[in-house]
Amino acid sequence: LNPAIFLALQGAFVEHETRLQNLHLKRKITTVLVKTPEDLQRCDGLIIPGGESTTIALLARLSGLLEPLKGFIKTKPVWGTCAGAILLSQSVTNAKKDGQELLGGVSVDIARNGWGSQVESFEAPLDVNGLADSSVPFTGIFIRAPVVLGLAPNAPIQVIARLPPHLLPEPAEDENDPRTIVALRQGLHLLTTFHPELTQDARFHDYFARNCVFPTVQVS
Ligand code: GLN
Repeated sequence: LNPAIFLALQGAFVEHETRLQNLHLKRKITTVLVKTPEDLQRCDGLIIPGGESTTIALLARLSGLLEPLKGFIKTKPVWGTCAGAILLSQSVTNAKKDGQELLGGVSVDIARNGWGSQVESFEAPLDVNGLADSSVPFTGIFIRAPVVLGLAPNAPIQVIARLPPHLLPEPAEDENDPRTIVALRQGLHLLTTFHPELTQDARFHDYFARNCVFPTVQVS
């Protein structure tokens, strides 16, 4: 049986585990709290939780996980939420002075703490393309969330949720402004700038399991 998932170094990993364990799939997901390269080897997918991206990267380095994670991302599905989304990005615009280690995998440029100090945390109802019961909005919880600044040209990215342009810190004139993007897919990877694990709603975990971790298997 294929276990999933995640990096349990720092951040909201227990909540991710609970959401995964509550999924109603025929194939039960086994969760692994990944703290070592050996743990990672047992996984068919990985969730990198929210928390603090520089701390997660530092802990990954100290536990010898940094290089194994970079290798994992090349072939296996990874979902990054908030700080995890930063780590999955190809570049970060406002890295800390002493730099920011990234894992890459998703061809976006992202800004840390993009909503600034004024509106560091907020909630917004999101229409998400491809989620079960998609007529029911998903509550996006944004906590010192990153902002997508740009997508690499021609990257095979599928945007699955946007914020209305008026909710941006500096209003967007164009509804296609990349800063409105809050959830996207690139191949097997999923990136959300908010925290689906902090709601009781497991539809994003269901989405990741069905579309990214087990895309070719009938799971329910
Ligand atoms: N601002 C945090 C960072 O840069 C992310 C916040 C979060 O994960 N809630 O890592």
